[in-house]
Order: sequence, then C-alpha cells, then structure tokens
Amino acid sequence: MNSFRSSWDRRRFLLAAGLASTVGVLRPSNLYAAYLADRHGESYRALGVRPLINAGGTYTTLTGSVISPEVRDAMAEASRYFVPLIDLQLAVGERIAKIAGVEAAMVTCGATSSIALATAACVTQGDPEKIQRIPDTTGMKNEVIMVKSHRMGFDHAARSIGTKIIEVETPEELEKAINEKTAMLLFVHIFESRGKINRNHFIAAGKRHNVPVFNDAAAELPPATNLSAIVGEGFDLVGFSGGKGLRGPQASGILLGRKDLIDAAHKNNNPFSDTIGRAMKVGKEEIMGLLKAVEIYHQRDHDADQKQWRGFMERIAKMVGDVPSIQSEVYIPGPGGHPVPYLRVKWDQRKVGLTYSECSEALQEGEPRVDLNTSDNGLELASYNLFPGEERIVGMRLREVLLAAAKKA
Ligand SMILES: *Cc1c(COP(=O)(O)O)cnc(C)c1O
Repeated sequence: MNSFRSSWDRRRFLLAAGLASTVGVLRPSNLYAAYLADRHGESYRALGVRPLINAGGTYTTLTGSVISPEVRDAMAEASRYFVPLIDLQLAVGERIAKIAGVEAAMVTCGATSSIALATAACVTQGDPEKIQRIPDTTGMKNEVIMVKSHRMGFDHAARSIGTKIIEVETPEELEKAINEKTAMLLFVHIFESRGKINRNHFIAAGKRHNVPVFNDAAAELPPATNLSAIVGEGFDLVGFSGGKGLRGPQASGILLGRKDLIDAAHKNNNPFSDTIGRAMKVGKEEIMGLLKAVEIYHQRDHDADQKQWRGFMERIAKMVGDVPSIQSEVYIPGPGGHPVPYLRVKWDQRKVGLTYSECSEALQEGEPRVDLNTSDNGLELASYNLFPGEERIVGMRLREVLLAAAKKA
C-alpha cells in the first residue's frame, strides 16, 4: 500500500512537471512551442480523445500506422465513384499479385481477416454448400495444426471458421498429427524462433501430405522483399497487414499465394452475402488505398527510410545523453522483432527513483502524449512511426521527465 502511494505521488509529481512545461510557450525550444500551438488532431480532441506521438510501434491499439498522402489521395479519389465491387476486388488482386510476383492475391480487411479467409478457403475448397454451412464444419476437413508456441489471440480467426487447433511441438508430432481431417497448417512468422519446428518443416510436411500451409506474416514488412519472398519459400498462402509497415488503410490486409486457394477465399468473402467473409467487408476506398500503398512500398527507397529512422533514434539518444546515470543504445531487434532501428534508454530505477513504467505513464499523460514500450531492460522506442520533428519532441519530453526525477533523487 505504501509503495503504491509513493509511486502514485511520484506520478502526480511527474505529471505536474509535464503540465508545467505545456504552459511553457516560454520554454527554450521554439519547436516545442510550435508543436504545442499547432492544432493537430482537433477532431479527436473535440471528442476528448488525445492524439499521440507513436514511439511504440504499429499496434492496432494505437491505430497502427498513418497512411501516406498518396494513399489518402487514392482513397479520396476512389470515394467519388461507384464500381462493381467484385470486379474491383479481382482487378486489384491481380495487380497486387503481379507486383509481388505471386500467382494470386486479394485484399482483406486485415491480417486477421486473411487468417479467417485462408482457413475458410482450405476448409471449404470453394464448395458452395460448404461455404454456406461454415462454421458448422461437420463432415469437412476441420483441423488446423499449429506449433504450440505459436498460439496467439489472432488464431481465433481460424477457430471462427469452425476448426479445432491441433498443437504440435516437434517435427515428429507434426508428421503424426496430419490426417484426413487436416485442413491447413498455420505458421506464425514472428514466432519461428520460439519452437522446435521451423518454416521448412512446416512447408515440407504440407507438401508431403498435400495440405496447404499458411504463414501469418502480418508485421513482416519491412523488409519489402518479404512481399514475394515468403510465398517463394513454399508457403501456399501468406497474410500481411495493410495498416502496419505498408502504411495502407488501417482496415486492410493482403492474402496472397496459390490461385486455386485465393479463388476459394474470394468465394467465401464479401460481397457474397451468405458467407463467413461478408462480415469482413472491405470498401472501395480501402481496396484502392491498399493498392496504392503496395505500389509505393514496392518502389520506395527503403535504405533511406532506415537511415532516417536511425537518425531519429540517435537524436533522442543525444538529447538524453547528459542526464545523470542514463544509458542508451540504438539497436535492431533480433529474430521475432521488426528489423528497424529502436532506442533503448535505461537507468538504475531505484537510484533515480523512477521506474520505467512511471516514466512511460508520465509521457502518456503529458502534452503532447508520447507512447513507447517498456520492458525489464528499459524504455524501448520504435523509430518507424515517428514523423520528422517528432523525435525532438520525444527527446525533450523524455529529458524533462528524467531530469525532474534526477533532481528529486
Ligand atoms: C498485427 C498482427 C495481426 C493482426 O493484424 P491486423 O491487420 O490488425 O488484423 C495478426 N498476426 C500477427 C502476428 C500480427 O503481428
């Protein structure tokens, strides 16, 4: 109880320190003042919802990513005309497949929807009677095999088709688990290093038994090469988020891979009304926005992005560099992380009298609100959702909070 109180008091103190600085048009930095004076995010503020600077990452809870101006224009243009939706879906799918260099593709309303539609494709194989009947999968192939350590909330999308998840832990268990009820093998790219079964085991087992293998690669862009490389490795189907690294619309995703399975996924999808996918509608604006995002991403100078992002992290590191007892390092997360620059900031929490989560809370409660990650190893700031200039605001806010604590200690 005592420790709660003291941490609460410290939080109030930090909050007050943060608020004091928002009054500070008088503060040394013109940039900070200019940023605060800018009426950004007014429509959100009018609802009492404060926009934020995102040094956390492409989390759906923080609205993923921000679409690029070209995507915004493409969506606005699309919004002005009627078209037959199915024609648009097919044409855009074909275009995306061509860009990615794969057999077929389709736009979904997110990577989670890609999981659901991939599963529906594998369970029904395009049979109209089965399409109507799922999630009642009586008499159908209705088992999906996953590595136990790949289980995640998003596999609900596979279960929503009426399947049962069969968990395996070794290549031998995988081999034994496959039977005539197996509809699909579901691999989660980001969790590969967690288990004893790697992608090659999965792909080979699928080929041996003629069972489609799906890879949930939701957040695996960048690197841009993954758009085609993951299908190229031998996965039958791959799903990506449209609203993460691609910077397409939030409610968009891609499913790509084998033509026969994409065709079956289509038949399970909007605009057909008696289907599982009808509840996952993607509008013409999202479809055209996603196409634009893929086109831009394909041509983008990704090295320049990496360089800019590293610069953001180095600048923040420099800004907090002279705060007593603060250490920082720019790093690229290892397997299972995004291959983009991050910044770790750490200190002796007891000595400074400020925990990582207290610091994070103070940053969230200040103005502008700054979101970042915390772990046992310190604060972890992601570079790739920052707009140029925001890194200075983050550096300044962080410096203020850390200095206030250091002074108090
Ligand atoms: C983000 C993510 C999802 C969900 O993606 P949406 O496009 O938001 O549906 C699914 N799986 C993994 C591994 C993810 O990282």
